[in-house]
Amino acid sequence: MKDQTTIKLKEIGLKVTPQRQAILKLLEGNQTHPSAERIYSEILRQFPGISFATVYNTLSKLVEAGEIQELDIDPNKKRFDPCIKSHYHFYCKVCGKVFDIVFDNPFPLEIKRIDGHRVDAIQLNLKGVCKECKRKR
Ligand code: ZN
Ligand code: MN
Repeated sequence: MKDQTTIKLKEIGLKVTPQRQAILKLLEGNQTHPSAERIYSEILRQFPGISFATVYNTLSKLVEAGEIQELDIDPNKKRFDPCIKSHYHFYCKVCGKVFDIVFDNPFPLEIKRIDGHRVDAIQLNLKGVCKECKRKR
């Protein structure tokens, strides 16, 4: 039986392997914006012996294919988001969590050109201390 992960991997031109399917499954609907290291440690539990490179390469290919997006918000590592719509993020400098942010009057995230420049990507990143960490202080 073909599931979504099989179809997606085929579309991208990646060989369908249980490891890659597990990576896609893990990312599906995932709102924690995990790092490659985080994803790797999860996948390692299901597939002992899998290399970090395998996981990282799969993530890179998924980004290239536009299936997931890579966020430049965490100063220490890339974070990944299965939601490919342009949206805002808030990064907590204390716990490292990344939250989706919704504005009432949003900055236009869909602009394709500005002042004659071509826009390929827009990321609006807010940084600070999340409400949970703020409460603990
Ligand atoms: Zn926090
Ligand atoms: Mn997000």
